[in-house]
Amino acid sequence: MSADVDCRQSKKKYSADTKCQLSDESIKDIWGAVSYPIYQTATFAHRGLGESTGYDYTRMQNPTRQQLEAVVAGLENGKDAIAFASGMAAIAAVMELFSLGDHFIIDSDLYGGSVRLFNEISNKNGLTYTSANLSSDDIAPLVRENTKAVYIETPTNPMMNVTDIEKLAKKAHELGLILIVDNTFLSPYYQNPLDLGADIVIHSGTKFLGGHHDTIGGFAVVNDEKIDEKLRYIYKTTGAGLSPFDSWLILRGIRTLAVRLNKAQENAFAIAEYLKKNKHVTKVIYPGLKEHPGYEIMKKQATGFGAMLTFEVDSPEFAKEILANVRLIYFAESLGGTETLITYPITQTHADVPADVLAKNGINDRVLRLSVGIEGTEDLIDEFERVFAEAEKKIKG
Ligand SMILES: *Cc1c(COP(=O)(O)O)cnc(C)c1O
Repeated sequence: MSADVDCRQSKKKYSADTKCQLSDESIKDIWGAVSYPIYQTATFAHRGLGESTGYDYTRMQNPTRQQLEAVVAGLENGKDAIAFASGMAAIAAVMELFSLGDHFIIDSDLYGGSVRLFNEISNKNGLTYTSANLSSDDIAPLVRENTKAVYIETPTNPMMNVTDIEKLAKKAHELGLILIVDNTFLSPYYQNPLDLGADIVIHSGTKFLGGHHDTIGGFAVVNDEKIDEKLRYIYKTTGAGLSPFDSWLILRGIRTLAVRLNKAQENAFAIAEYLKKNKHVTKVIYPGLKEHPGYEIMKKQATGFGAMLTFEVDSPEFAKEILANVRLIYFAESLGGTETLITYPITQTHADVPADVLAKNGINDRVLRLSVGIEGTEDLIDEFERVFAEAEKKIKG
């Protein structure tokens, strides 16, 4: 029998303490399996009338998913984490907390899918928002009588703006608003927004938590019991819970969260320094660089700088040649996995963001975003050398 530790109380977060068990007797592993079992079942038999095992139907509860939820709650120092079928499903469920006529304030540089949700779905449901650069702008003048929440990412995607979470949480609470932080970019290994005063933390579990580009999932993590109760109700009613198998994959991913991120961050630093020296690179945006405007805040509120890096080259043609020539690196959407991915935000992740917002945020057709993986550092640098040389040859020729 593995150590009987309640994950929510476990402090061994950086060793991805998947040995922790839920205190609930009914799902304790009795055989000592090192890998938590996949309870691939839709429903659960009752022992008798009025006697539930604690599990009735997988849309509502499933042991494998609950094990994952307990581990993620532990990682984020939350009272509860709810596992959804995707990051977007988590965000959509959080939006269901609000009512017709409610208003919220969002950062102007957010994941494109979130902006699409707010514009096309939340809007239709009677929610409105005001967007601003929340890494610098004050929220007070934006607050209306019906404002309920502030929604941010930090660092932002893809421009890496950094917001002081503690300061914003304090301000939001003074104004009677809740703060929602999408913590996908740093993962709980490097940043814990609940500890800094956030009310809801969101993750795309598809990214660093899953970590292998092999499954989709999402989380909402909370401390407040009232919010938790409402979210659990929305979750069981709308039915976007993560499947048992995908829950298991993310549990497996989390076991290597720390080692993956340590290596990916090391690679990100090496690539940032390499790109800074390249004559075709006009800008390198990585919050681990001292010249990054968010560097000091990052040092204060996070334990690392992550593996996301954005850079700008001197022409759109050059950007397209880079995309055409990558071989070790994949030209693919998504982030946070073992393989390095390069994306072109203007046509991919941010295709649905209005043109004026893109321009304001500095997202143009020369901007590329890297999600740095855990390949050998030299292999990645060699890849860049080759890709830049081929792009140069093509453009000159
Ligand atoms: C990918 C992503 C999402 C959406 O998550 P899915 O799992 O793709 O639904 C939300 N926020 C951020 C910051 C992301 O990178």
